[in-house]
Amino acid sequence: MTSPVWHPFTQHGLKEPIPHVVGAKGAELHLADGGTLIDAISSWWVTTHGHCHPRIAAAIADQAGRLDQMIFAGYTHEPAEQVARGLVALAPRAPGRPPLAHVFYSDSGSTAVEVALKMALGYWHNRALDGGSMARAHILVMEHSYHGDTIGAMSVGERGVYNQAWAPLLFDVGAIPFPAPGREQQTLAALEAACADKARPPAAFIVEPLVLGAGGMLVYSPAILREMAAICARHDVLFIADEVMTGWGRTGTMFACEQAGVAPDIMAVAKGITGGAIPLAATLSTAAIFDAHVSTDRSRQFFHSSSYTANPIACAAAAANLAIWREEDVAGRIAALSASLARRLERIAAHPALDNPRGLGAIGAIDLRTADAGYLSDLAPRLRAFFLERGLLMRPLGNSIYWMPPYCIDEAQLDRLFDAILSAADRFGGTA
Ligand SMILES: *Cc1c(COP(=O)(O)O)cnc(C)c1O
Repeated sequence: MTSPVWHPFTQHGLKEPIPHVVGAKGAELHLADGGTLIDAISSWWVTTHGHCHPRIAAAIADQAGRLDQMIFAGYTHEPAEQVARGLVALAPRAPGRPPLAHVFYSDSGSTAVEVALKMALGYWHNRALDGGSMARAHILVMEHSYHGDTIGAMSVGERGVYNQAWAPLLFDVGAIPFPAPGREQQTLAALEAACADKARPPAAFIVEPLVLGAGGMLVYSPAILREMAAICARHDVLFIADEVMTGWGRTGTMFACEQAGVAPDIMAVAKGITGGAIPLAATLSTAAIFDAHVSTDRSRQFFHSSSYTANPIACAAAAANLAIWREEDVAGRIAALSASLARRLERIAAHPALDNPRGLGAIGAIDLRTADAGYLSDLAPRLRAFFLERGLLMRPLGNSIYWMPPYCIDEAQLDRLFDAILSAADRFGGTA
């Protein structure tokens, strides 16, 4: 029987099997046919502590029976207040830089990024109304970035086959080269030049701090992140950190910006904010950006909302997640996992068919040396099937094999994962 479901990022014409998942626990998914899969990519980067964490599940059940949903324009509720206070307290800080002080809720990473861009332009628009400066609307981005799949988020992301059909709708941005090892100075010089452009002064620069996820798990140094933020600050260009993937301990610290001592002007968070249990996102801003929207003039308010803004059930899950971070040794767990992943990466890097090992915290990646690379080559689906047969949920990006497991994954499960990667290197390395 054919299903009416249209799956995301799925070519239905290839008729690849679509496994039915009936349950999940810890680092595993349970299949309808009785099999289990190790969730080596945290169900697309969202699951942090593990699936069905009892405290988060209980918070969801409890909140669902008390207050399920309500309008958030002009009304508030305790879970949203609690999570906002928690986010502001946890946000990255830097001496001499204003702290993130306000929290705007939405429901996905893409919308958190849209909100970030709208806040940035709203700030410059309202400042121009005051005669403070000219309205700025130009956005700078980093090459190979990914910020989501809505029109604005695609506009600030890398252009390619995955957004070609909508190219006419995407707005113009200034792209700064990725700071690949040895090319860092080019990145900084390009950013400096773009920020200093008097004809088109940028409103903001948006970056994925330290690791570019969908662009291929590309890692760059905290020193460059810090320098980029400093250049933006010198030129009064807002610095937007997209911590949607890197947040919640993924890179080894709560937020990646911490490793560079960077306090962004705007920060987008989503994915792991509820431990990966239910959709929620937030965009944090400094007081200056919030204040630019504050007036007795209603035309200056921030014109953005979605029906489920700050859904109480999602906020209760996020509050439980914050409590887990406060009360359990999550950081210790991540440190142990990071060390184990680093050792394993070093070991597999010796394989002649594997190249370009990289990683940070609970993220690692390695490239398969093969003639058959690129997003549309059939290597990635063949690898996916190869891992699936071995009980692993993996989703290679072209010829890049990456892992981003839930923090509860154990050593036996990691053995299975890395054995399978070596088998994949034996099987597919060098093949066309
Ligand atoms: C996943 C991701 C997004 C988009 O988040 P969604 O919740 O899928 O809309 C945005 N930015 C980054 C860096 C991401 O990894």
